[in-house]
Amino acid sequence: MISLKDVHKSFGDLEVLKGITFDVMKGEVICIIGPSGSGKSTLIRCINALNDIQRGSITVEGQEVHDPNLDKLELRKKVGMVFQQYNLFPHKTALENVMMAPLLVLKQAKADVEQRARRLMKKVRLEGKENFYPGELSGGQQQRVAIARSLAMNPDVMLFDEVTAALDPETVKEVLVTIKELAAEGMTCILVTHEMGFAREVADHIYFTDRGVIVEHGPPATFFTEASDPRTQEFLSQIL
Ligand code: ATP
Ligand code: MG
Repeated sequence: MISLKDVHKSFGDLEVLKGITFDVMKGEVICIIGPSGSGKSTLIRCINALNDIQRGSITVEGQEVHDPNLDKLELRKKVGMVFQQYNLFPHKTALENVMMAPLLVLKQAKADVEQRARRLMKKVRLEGKENFYPGELSGGQQQRVAIARSLAMNPDVMLFDEVTAALDPETVKEVLVTIKELAAEGMTCILVTHEMGFAREVADHIYFTDRGVIVEHGPPATFFTEASDPRTQEFLSQIL
């Protein structure tokens, strides 16, 4: 469904991605882990064309993401993204935040959009919070509104960039539960995360990146026990 081949990305003289290759099948959950600055955010931003690339190829459902003729709106309808900072509109209620893109971007009928948005609020376990403003919600609740907002575009794949990194430990879990439920329903997910317990439990495949290359990868069952590269071992020893 998603295919990266020899992806190279530089910012000026700094080469951040140095030949990344991997495939993601429909319904798979992929976790990307690695030290700060290793290029994880850059990598997933390349997948929905928030970053351009200098070499290689990234395809989503057979379509080249970095084809200059690609309709980015069409791509971003297919590929949802949630960031560490949820960036909800503070003067809109939770429900209005979820409704906004389908209304303004897809120009769908308001009644349908509202019905779907209410369903999504329920799905992320925020029934009853529809009319709350972001400032009246906890970090974990806001992040779940952000997930619902992304799902409102009905994407085929979801990208999550350290979505729990800014949250209190108590609220991390509720966001992870939401993602776990999405994964269980068959949503294709690519996550950058430091939550190793989550990765172990939910990921089909884990990629460890360091300085722009994939150093090691494998299914969780072997990744955590058989990591052989010293960089992976050092990273895991710090985090586990
Ligand atoms: P973290 O775990 O801290 O989020 P990361 O693995 O996500 O780190 P990236 O954010 O992808 O790392 O950054 C990789 C490298 O690219 C860093 O050296 C960073 O300074 C550089 N970089 C990222 N974005 C830009 C940009 N827009 N312009 C210039 N350099 C950038
Ligand atoms: Mg990052």
